[in-house]
Amino acid sequence: MTPLAAKLVARIEAEGPMGVDAYMAACLTDPDHGYYTTRDPLGTAGDFITAPEISQMFGELFGLWLAQVWMDHGAPGAFVLAELGPGRGTLMADALRAARRVPGFTEAARLVLVETSPELQKAQAERLTPYDPRWVDSVESLPGGPLFLIANEFFDALPIRQFIRTERGWDERCVGLQGGGLGFTTRAADLPELAAREADTRPGEIVETCAPAAGFMRAIGQRIAQHRAGAALVIDYGAAISRGDTLQALKAHEPVDVLATPGEADLTAHVDFGALAAARGPAEAAPLTPQGVFLERLGITQRAQALAQQLTGAALDSHIAAHRRLTHPEEMGRLFKCLALHPTSTATPPGF
Ligand code: SAH
Repeated sequence: MTPLAAKLVARIEAEGPMGVDAYMAACLTDPDHGYYTTRDPLGTAGDFITAPEISQMFGELFGLWLAQVWMDHGAPGAFVLAELGPGRGTLMADALRAARRVPGFTEAARLVLVETSPELQKAQAERLTPYDPRWVDSVESLPGGPLFLIANEFFDALPIRQFIRTERGWDERCVGLQGGGLGFTTRAADLPELAAREADTRPGEIVETCAPAAGFMRAIGQRIAQHRAGAALVIDYGAAISRGDTLQALKAHEPVDVLATPGEADLTAHVDFGALAAARGPAEAAPLTPQGVFLERLGITQRAQALAQQLTGAALDSHIAAHRRLTHPEEMGRLFKCLALHPTSTATPPGF
């Protein structure tokens, strides 16, 4: 049993079963044993790999996208460049290196990072020191001014609740005790917003909700709508509507039982992009677009060809594989989606 499993068993003995959201929050961010609190989980030596760690092209194209939207919105002389859950800082470092070619952009940017993990804050500080970053713990604490924000694989790490449709209503899926260890159980749920899902679900089906994700989107939407310049770009895996159990645990790049090793495996759930867009408040949302399509529209193939000219042998093979991995529909191209918010007074941003 992991140290966190022992702590959770004691908590359930005292307080009763906990929602999947409380379980996920403990696994990821428990101050002593949380997955993100205690390690840098990214990369080939870690548990999972993300798009910016696969290829520099990912961050470069998003940097140019941010700089293009900034120009389209009148190139404000001071703005907040923010990232939610920046991991090792790779995406932002690649983005800022590419965006240096756009005169004035990096000079006008005030870099602010939202990151819970002390380990990853250290990694971000190492990569991003030349840009003088600061850290805050919420969107509400970002400094004022037009906001340009990016979040890659951030929303999938936020705690979800799971509800099971029954013959008489809904039950909440919970984590309780089973044979001395952790096991799934249910309790009756009474959540008025679930009534809307009775039209498209059948008894036995699971739907997921993520209140923290909606909270982030509401705060971002309000900030974006305050100015005539600004944008938010969310990239993640998921669908336009939540359907079924998508909670998953990954350890050393392999799926593992979500209850088996709390605190020692990454836990994520698919993002419900319809719910994110619905929470955006007064900002406009661009049409949800698959990552592969979006990257092609931003010119990833031209960039890939330019980089390929300097490569040979194994480096060239891995570059070609990275391009395919980011864009191909059977790899990350279709499952991952891009959602952008922009002020209602501005045109739909490029790539959508
Ligand atoms: N964007 C990076 C990392 C993705 S992993 C990449 O693409 O490589 C998820 C990131 O979100 C990590 O940096 C993690 O520490 C951070 N994170 C998770 N939950 C968070 C929360 N509630 N508040 C702030 N950061 C969080």
